[in-house]
Order: sequence, then C-alpha cells, then structure tokens
Amino acid sequence: MIRSLDLRGKALTKVGYQKAIPRAKLDIAAALVAIEPILQKVKSGTEADLLQLAEEFDGVRPPSIRVPQSALDKALADLDPKIRAALELSAERIRKVHNDQTRGVTTTKVVDGGVVTERWIPVDRVGLYVPGGRAVYPSSVLMNVIPAQIAKVSSIAVASPPQKEFGGLPHPTILAACALLGITEVYAVGGAQAIALFAYGMDGLCEKCDLVTGPGNIYVAAAKRALRGVIGIDSEAGPTEIAILADESARAGDVAADLISQAEHDVIAAAVLVTTSEKLAADVVKELEVRVAKTKHSARIREALSGIQSAIVMVDSIAQGLDVVNAYAAEHLEIQTQNAAQDALKIRNAGAVFIGRFSPVSLGDYSAGSNHVLPTGGCACHSSGLSVQTFLRGLHYIEYEKKWPLWLPLRDELTSLSPYGAPQVPAEATLNTNENPYAPSPELAQAIADRVHRVATTLNRYPDRDATVLRTSLGKFINTLSGTNFTADSIWAANGSNEIIQSLFMAFGDRGALGFTPSYSMHPLIAKVVGVTWQDGGRRADFTLDTAKAITEISGKKPALTFVTTPNNPTGTLLKIGEIEELAKATAQVSGLLVIDEAYAEFSKEISAVALIEKYPNVVVIRTMSKAFAFAGARVGYLVANPDVVDAMFLVRLPYHLSAITQAAAEVALEYQAELLGTVATLIDSRAKVIADLESMGLTVAPSSANFIIFSGFNVEPAQIWRQLLDRGVLIRDVGLLGHLRMTIGNEAENQKFIGALKEILQK
Ligand code: PMP
Repeated sequence: MIRSLDLRGKALTKVGYQKAIPRAKLDIAAALVAIEPILQKVKSGTEADLLQLAEEFDGVRPPSIRVPQSALDKALADLDPKIRAALELSAERIRKVHNDQTRGVTTTKVVDGGVVTERWIPVDRVGLYVPGGRAVYPSSVLMNVIPAQIAKVSSIAVASPPQKEFGGLPHPTILAACALLGITEVYAVGGAQAIALFAYGMDGLCEKCDLVTGPGNIYVAAAKRALRGVIGIDSEAGPTEIAILADESARAGDVAADLISQAEHDVIAAAVLVTTSEKLAADVVKELEVRVAKTKHSARIREALSGIQSAIVMVDSIAQGLDVVNAYAAEHLEIQTQNAAQDALKIRNAGAVFIGRFSPVSLGDYSAGSNHVLPTGGCACHSSGLSVQTFLRGLHYIEYEKKWPLWLPLRDELTSLSPYGAPQVPAEATLNTNENPYAPSPELAQAIADRVHRVATTLNRYPDRDATVLRTSLGKFINTLSGTNFTADSIWAANGSNEIIQSLFMAFGDRGALGFTPSYSMHPLIAKVVGVTWQDGGRRADFTLDTAKAITEISGKKPALTFVTTPNNPTGTLLKIGEIEELAKATAQVSGLLVIDEAYAEFSKEISAVALIEKYPNVVVIRTMSKAFAFAGARVGYLVANPDVVDAMFLVRLPYHLSAITQAAAEVALEYQAELLGTVATLIDSRAKVIADLESMGLTVAPSSANFIIFSGFNVEPAQIWRQLLDRGVLIRDVGLLGHLRMTIGNEAENQKFIGALKEILQK
C-alpha cells in the first residue's frame, strides 16, 4: 500500500533527498491555462456570469452570489449545539495564541536626530477563501477570520463554493462559523472565480480586496499565482502533507492513524514516515492495512498512500532523519522520538511541528490554537503559515531632523530641539490649543479698537515699561476672585504666561527645576532653552500627583523651582489647596520657589493658590488671559507673588517688553471681565456633555477641571484618529501620551462635530 525507500548508508544532499521523496505531480501550468477565461469573465463580468460559472463548476445556481444575512442567522440557529461548542472552544484557543502574535512599535535612533519607526498597520480589506470540495472545513473559517480580526482588518469578506445539497448556499456549518465570528459579508462562490472576484471586485456586488488568504484546490492556487500583484496572497496552498520522524519509541498505531488522517484529505495528499526502526516500519505497514480497511474513505486513503508522494523512509540515524525532513519541508511534521522536544529544536523547515504522541496533526487541524493554514509543497523553506502577521504590514516612518551647518555657532543643547509647533491648520472645529471658542462681542471689539486708537497717537514713544496701570487692574481682578489684597507690587505681566515662565527660569534657575509629567510640555522645553536643568518627578498612572512622593523628590533634589500645574495640562487633574500647602512647606525647606501654573484655574472650583502667598512667600502663581479670559491673541500672562519675586522679574525682563497696544487691549478686556468670563459656566456644562457622549461610546475620559479633556480606550494609534478627525474638519491634539488624545471644549456646534466625526471613525 505504501512504498518503502531505504536511504540507509546514503547521505544525500538536500536536493538529493528532495528528489528521493517527490511531491505528487501538480500541473499548475495546465490549471493556469484552464482558469484564464474564468478570470477574464469575472474581471469584466457581472453577477450573472458568476451564477453561470457556479452552474458550470458547482452544478448548482445559487439564488444570489451574496449570501443573505437571514441565511447566516439561520445557519447559526440550526447549528448542532455540540458542533457550536466545539467551534467556540477552538475559536477561544486560536484567539489565545494569535492574540500573542501582535507586534509592538519599534523605534530606532539611527543617528542623532535621525529616527526610524516601524509600525504594524492592518491591511484595509481582505477576502478569505474557505474551500468546499471533498470535506467541510468550518475550522478554516476560524483559522482565517480570527487572525484577521486580531490584526484589526476593518473589512473582511468570506467566499466558499455553493453546494448543491444546500440549494446553492455554501455549507451551513461554514455559514454558521462565519455568523459565530460576526462575519456578515459572505459570497457563494468557489474556485478561481472567487479569487478573481476578490482581486477585481465587482460593481454593486463586492468591493475589491487588498489581500486574499486561505487554502483551496489547484485552480484556487493557479488563480492566486495568476492574480498575485493585482491582489496580495498568502501562499499557493497545495495538497496537504504529513511527515513523521520516528524512532523505535513511537507507537505504530499512533503513527498509522496520523498518516491516515492527512491521506484522508485528498488522493494526492502526501504521507511520509521517516524512521530508524525497521520494526516500527513493519508494524506501521500492518497497522495501515487494518485501519485503512476500516476507515470511511478507504479508497481515497489507499490511493494517497500508494502514490509516489507517500513513503516509509529508512534512515541510519535521527541525525540523518532530521536532514531528510528538513530537506522535505513538510506542511505538518510530527516528531515521535525518544527526545522529541530536543529533536524538534533542530527543525528549520516545516509549516508546523507537532511534538510527541499527544500532539497529533489532527489536534492542530482543529483546536491546538495554532493555525492550520500552512505552507505546502516544500514552501515551508521560505514561508510561514497564516498568522496575525499575514494581515499586517510593517510601515517604516523615517524622521530625520535638520542638521545644523557647522558655520552656525548654535548652542549644543539646542541642536536636537524642534520649535514649538502645535499644528496651525485650517479646520471647521479648532479644538487643539485650549482656547476659548467664544469670540469677543462687537462692543468689546469696538472698545479695544477705540483704546488702541488713542494709544496709536503716542506710538512714537516707548510704553510704560512697568505696565503699572495694567498690573494694578490685574491685582484688583485677583482680589475680587480670591478676597486678597494685592497691589501692583505683587503682580508681574508679560507676553503670555510663557514669557513669565521663561523669566522665572532666567531669574531663579541655578539649582535646576523639578516638574511632574505628563504636564505642560513647555515647562521643560523653556528650561532647556534657557539652560536650566529640568528633572521629572512623574505622576501616578491615573495622572494624579502623589504629593508624598513629590515631597520626597523635592527634599532629595532641592530644586530652586518646583512647577505644579493645576488643573493640569494635558490631563485636567486637580490638586487640593491643602496639598499645595504641603508642597509649599517642602519647597520652603529647600529654599526653593513653588510655581503653581493656574492657566486653567477659572474652570475649576478649587481655591486659587494666591491665597497661600501671604503665609508662604515662596509660592508663585502664574495665570493667563489666554484661556478662560478668551484673549489668547493678545498675549497677556501674569504672575502673583511676593513683591521680592516681582522685583527679581525686573532684572530679567527686556526693556519695554509689553507693548503699549497690548497693555491698552488688556486693560479694556479687564473692564469687560464679566462678559469674557461669562462663557466659563457654558464651557463647564459643555465639558460634562462631551464627557458623557464619549463615555457612552465606550471611551474612557479622565476627570477634568479644565476646558479640555483627555480620552482613551480606542484601539488604534492616537495619531491615526487625530488624522481621521482632521480629514473630517476637526482639529484636536495628540499630546504624545500613549493611547490618549486631548480635545479642547468648543462651542456646541464644534463639540457635536467632534463627537459625530469620532463616532464615524470608531464605527468603521
Ligand atoms: N501654562 C499652561 C499650563 C498652559 O497650558 C499654557 C498654554 N497652553 C500656558 C501656560 C501658556 O499660555 P500663554 O502663554 O498663552 O499665557
């Protein structure tokens, strides 16, 4: 029934072994000729052509090529509960194994300022082929669909041949397996025409796919070869094959059963036993006789075993046996030797390796968790089986920075920096830089214009370099909010709070600065530009500040400046006044300043840290008119502090740093404070609505006391969502926090646009 081949004493080359154990003859060239008219027909054809091809090749005319959802639902409802349980168990195991196959992002710094990042991006749309043929393989549905789903392929179609017995639908178990996995796009089409349908698409029926995977007969393989390039393919799966490397420790019954299990698939399936044991060889022959006779498909098995492609091969040693099976590169290789696990490590070429008597190939066919779509015909020497990786492409992102010319005496620490650059691109909803979305009223705009007009008549003169009027108004404003008694001596004003931050570093940077990231990214950047050492204390995983840990950091590092942002940007998290007081004490102990950046204070209910200044002269509070005050374009920031701190600011400010126009505009804005701050309550309400909307979409939003929120819980990279939102006219901010995006609360229309666009993206 099965030929024997004695290779003992004949150490051959790899090619020599391959010639000694050939595969069954497959006339791919003839198949290519046979399928050519089919491919042409599908390329320029319609559904009617597919129906006619089904009649011709499958002997049945399906009611429609697209399988209706009702048929999928019915197949699942009618599925034998035992088969359903088996499929579910297999699916769970396949998922387990394939979940571990996802690859992370790798970032390689090639040279200073030159980085290459590789990200794994799923193919957009795949077509999965599930053969009909001599047997039904619902397991092939699982083996194809699950890796594609884990790779996050967004569009998955399945094709399987129409069956005469089922009125032209694919086999009900295959439909049930599709339904079980949530696949809704299924076509009753088989053979070369299925591959052509995926490769070319068909107007009104099926969108073109980027990749097709799955096993099939010789015509499927030929179609894949002919269309590769038009569509990506996994491999040209040929007839199945098993090789078993065994010694005298193997059990003849097990070996025979496993040879039969693959021979049963096809008359040209290959079953090869490579052994050192004459006794085993003889016993296996006996076992085959007995078992084949008793098996349902005995004629098919007999033909497969007696073909040129099947053999019992005698070798001198396991070492020679390993050479033989490595040369053969079987789709399935079983190792049934004394030291199976060690011998398995010497295998280089095989689709999958099954170790020991309790790991038969049939386990891998269904529910080992491994994939059963494997390279055949010796292709295992260059290809692997189907995996999550099949559905991903490694994209390289190349990012080299400007190389500064040598003639330019740029400071060393600046060469690796890039300029601040929140994208300033046109969008219908600009929600990226935490501005107030409500523009000044026409009355306020007119009042500013009038005041600026007055100032314009004196622009030949320098402005009030101490900005006394403005500082007095700012002091009064703070006093109204916080019940304090500050005069201009405790206030410093500049072009945005960024300039205030820079001045603080210039005046007090000697012993370095400490901050707690993620926080406002300009704190460390401005420090670097000014030449101040920055150290990071970090935050908890939920972005709150661990004050006890912060105090330990302060005592240990003794920084001149400790920066705390509250509400924090970009996380929205808040610090209680009591906690700030603890930090004030700790910083005082090391003779350092505690800088509280309150850029977003108006949006929170917490008391301002200005209340601590009288008791703790080392507390410095930074505020801005850019956010709640809706005055970002004017560039006005200020600090509130002990007058000694303000005196130090005079040392580092540039002469006449705040223009007469800025001072005039800010004074008017302060007169209109009721109007400008009037939008704060609206924004707080809108914040609650946006958070509720995002949560109802299953996303996670960090609690926020600011006019922005950060959210997470989406499965793709933030940059991808950011881009897709921008494509829909919504600009938000990718702050570089793993898995998170930040969105500034806008007006009602902008928020709705954001939510609508995000829903659309996440549902895709
Ligand atoms: N501090 C924090 C925490 C900020 O988020 C910002 C701006 N995003 C600033 C300071 C600087 O604002 P400006 O210079 O506009 O006052």
